[in-house]
Amino acid sequence: MKIFFALFSLTLAITGQEKPNLIVIMTDDMGYADVGFNGCKDIPTPHIDSIASNGVKFTSGYVAYSVCGPSRAAFMTGRYGQRFGFERNPQYRTQDENMGLPLGEDTIASALRKVGYYSGVIGKWHLGATKKHHPLKRGFQEFYGHLGGGHQYMPEMLNIEDSYAAKDEPQSYRTWILKDHKAVPPRKYLTDDFSDEAVSFIERNHNKPFFLFLSYNAPHTPLQAPQKYLDRFINLKEGKRRTYAAMVSAVDDGVGRVLSSLTKNQINQNTIVFFLSDNGGPSTKNGSNNAPLRGNKGDAWEGGWRVPFAVQWPLRLPKGTEYDHPVVSLDIMATIAARAGAPISNDRPLDGVNLIPFLTGKKEGAPHQGIFLRKFDSGSTAIRSGNHKLVTYEKKAFTGLYDLREDIGETKNIRDQSPEEISRLKMLWENWNKSNIDPVFKGLIHTPAWQKKRNQATRKKAKTNHK
Ligand code: CA
Repeated sequence: MKIFFALFSLTLAITGQEKPNLIVIMTDDMGYADVGFNGCKDIPTPHIDSIASNGVKFTSGYVAYSVCGPSRAAFMTGRYGQRFGFERNPQYRTQDENMGLPLGEDTIASALRKVGYYSGVIGKWHLGATKKHHPLKRGFQEFYGHLGGGHQYMPEMLNIEDSYAAKDEPQSYRTWILKDHKAVPPRKYLTDDFSDEAVSFIERNHNKPFFLFLSYNAPHTPLQAPQKYLDRFINLKEGKRRTYAAMVSAVDDGVGRVLSSLTKNQINQNTIVFFLSDNGGPSTKNGSNNAPLRGNKGDAWEGGWRVPFAVQWPLRLPKGTEYDHPVVSLDIMATIAARAGAPISNDRPLDGVNLIPFLTGKKEGAPHQGIFLRKFDSGSTAIRSGNHKLVTYEKKAFTGLYDLREDIGETKNIRDQSPEEISRLKMLWENWNKSNIDPVFKGLIHTPAWQKKRNQATRKKAKTNHK
C-alpha cells in the first residue's frame, strides 16, 4: 500500500496536476470549409464552433493520410501508418489477422490504461474486423459501434445481425451495432444513437480519468438524414449538399450534447476536447466543400489531408485563439501521453508532439520540421514545412512547390524559383521515409468490386474524351 501511495504521489508530482480527460470527436469525410469556424455559411455548426471559440482553432491542421483507415491508424497510435505498413483502407475481412492495425502497436487507449484511464470508442472503428482487432483488445474498455469503414444510418437498413457474418464492405454497412461484443437491435438514426451513447459514457465515467473517442461515421456516404434535420435546410436545393448539411447538423447537435454533459458533470475545465475530420471531403460524392483548398479526399493536395481542426481545454488553453503553425492528428496522442504521464515504448517512438507548451506560448517556433504524406499505390508524396508545400506525383513526373501563405489554393507552382528549397524539402522527406515500410496488407482498391468500379469510370472518361 505504501509503495502504491508513493507511486501515486510520484505520478501526481510528474504531471503536476489532476489528469485531464480526453475527448476526440472525429467526423468522416467532412470538408475543410464545412464548419462555421472555417467560414461555412450554409450549414450552421454553433456547437462545433464553440470548441474553437473556447480554445484554439488550427488553421493548418493536418491528418496523416488522405483516406479513412490509414488516417485513423496514425491518429490512434501517434505514429505515421507507414511506420507499420498501414497505408491502405483495409478490406472487411473477419478472419484475416493481417488486415488491420498490427497487433503489436500500442493505441492511445492502451497507453492511457497504464496510468489509470478508462477508455471508450463510439462509432466507426475501421482498424480491423477480426476478433483480435476488436477495440476491447486494443486498450479500450467500452465499444459501441461498427467495425468497418462506413455504415447505413437508418435502423431499417441494418439487417445483418452478426458483424462477423458480413462478407465484404457493403455487407458490413448493414450489420447491427456492436455493444462491446454483443450485437444490439437497431435503435434510431445512427448519428443520434452515437450521440446518446457518448452522453451516457460521460454520465457513467465522469468521476475517473477517461478517454472517449467519438468517431462519427457521418457525413460519409451513404447520404441519409431524417426529415427533422432535412427540414433545417429548406433553403438549400434538394440534392447531395442538402442531405450532407442535415447530416453535419445532426453531428453538431451531438457535439452540443456532449459539451453540455461535461458542464453538467462539472468536468468541463479539465477535459481536453479535440474536433477534427479524418480526411478531406470527397466533394462530388457527398457534397462536401474544401474551398479554398485544392483537391479532395485521397489527394496529396491540401484538400485531401488538411481538415477542420480545433481543441479546447478551459483549464490551460487560451480562449478564442488561432494557431497557424502546422499541426497533425499524431499530436493528439503525444499531447495526452505527456499530460497523463503515460509511458511510450522506446522501440515505437511517437511522431507527434505535445502541443500544450506551443499553444500556451511557453515554446516558440513550429512544433514540426515537416508533416509528411506518402501514398504508396498512387506514387504521390507531399511535405508541408513552414509556409511551403512540396507535392510530387511520380507517375506523371510532376513536382509542385507552393507558398501556402500567399497561395493556399496551390495554384502557382514556384518550383523553378526555388531549387534549393525543393532540395531541402526532398531531403527532409527522404529522411522521414527511411523508417517506413511497404504496406503489409492489400486494400479495398484490390477487391474485384472496386476494380470493376474503376474500370467503369475509366471507360466513361474515355467515352467523354472521345466526344
Ligand atoms: Ca474518411
